[in-house]
Amino acid sequence: MTTTKVNMFDFDHDGLRDYFVARGEKPYRAKQVMQWLYQQNTRDFEQMSNVSKVLREQLSKDACTTLPKVQQEMLSSDGTCKWLFELHDGNSIETVYIPEANRGTLCISSQVGCALDCSFCATGRQGFNRNLSVAEIIGQLWLAENLLKLNPETQDQRITNIVMMGMGEPLLNYNKLVPALRLMLDDRAYGLSKRRVTVSTSGVVPAMDRLTADIDVSLAVSLHAPNNALRDELVPVNKKYPIEQLMGACWRYVQGERKKRVLFEYVMLAGVNDQPEHARQLVSLLRDFPGKVNLIPFNPFPTSGYTRSSNAAVARFTKLLTDGGILTLTRTTRGDDIDAACGQLAGDITDRSKRYIRFSEPRFGEQFQ
Ligand code: SAH
Ligand code: SF4
Repeated sequence: MTTTKVNMFDFDHDGLRDYFVARGEKPYRAKQVMQWLYQQNTRDFEQMSNVSKVLREQLSKDACTTLPKVQQEMLSSDGTCKWLFELHDGNSIETVYIPEANRGTLCISSQVGCALDCSFCATGRQGFNRNLSVAEIIGQLWLAENLLKLNPETQDQRITNIVMMGMGEPLLNYNKLVPALRLMLDDRAYGLSKRRVTVSTSGVVPAMDRLTADIDVSLAVSLHAPNNALRDELVPVNKKYPIEQLMGACWRYVQGERKKRVLFEYVMLAGVNDQPEHARQLVSLLRDFPGKVNLIPFNPFPTSGYTRSSNAAVARFTKLLTDGGILTLTRTTRGDDIDAACGQLAGDITDRSKRYIRFSEPRFGEQFQ
């Protein structure tokens, strides 16, 4: 008979506390185990020296600290790292680390594939396979942090920001997303500030409202079009939750908090959504809203059918938005030599012939198996 062990990485603090209390243990065991897992990076119960011997033995028998398996490690010429992690069922997911001057951002996946089928997204093209568990979501952060430290080329890099912008629609995996976010914010685990943890959504309106009520994190919204006709085409979930409803949820998110802003993502597709009329429509849509627009250069993938807007088109678009009073940033593309740029994550074994893949077979990940 096979018994499934409980994975300690599947719980946020309260979940772990309930687990221990149900076994007749003191609630503070949760904090102890969390500190070992997330701050000491110890997955071996035997090493958890402030946990009683009896409990350590019990945990070794009944519980586990299983994480995804490191399948590939890649380092881009610009310092971006990408890891391919294999899950227990053979699926794989991708996680990307982007170093910048004064921060390091980890881009985490929430699902294998995605059901929402945005027309310009490689993950959407794959279709939906399944939701990730809490352990598989938080495990990406655990593994990335430890893999960066082990590699002499990246050991000085730190993860200061998290964006849920990898594969999948985080808000369609709500019940696993939220405990993972809690662990990111919890001082007994990663203790990141809410300004540095961002959930990106294509606009699943009811779940946006739930998120606003349940946990305080930063919000990015994949807008990509200033009117419903075009957004229906690019982001099909718009047919269910059109722009007016989406903006309603954005207003409820910022309500009552002076400093809160929404980051609107807008992928620049040549001739599709990058014309002056689109910029003007965007200005009237967002003029009175506390938000910022992030223009993303389109990252092509085979058979997408779109091309990236020219620099001139992006500059013209930016000027129209800025003149209209909209704060606008342009995202620089990072890691595209290892297919790590936005929208290129597909979880497949990537093209090994790429020139800049510095190493691909796991070099540092073996010890986490
Ligand atoms: N599902 C969520 C989060 C993952 S996608 C969402 O859609 O927001 C993260 C960001 O990458 C989104 O803004 C998405 O629209 C963008 N993106 C997807 N495909 C892209 C591509 N090919 N080029 C540039 N950005 C892309
Ligand atoms: Fe899914 Fe986001 Fe890609 Fe759309 S852009 S298909 S919501 S991952």
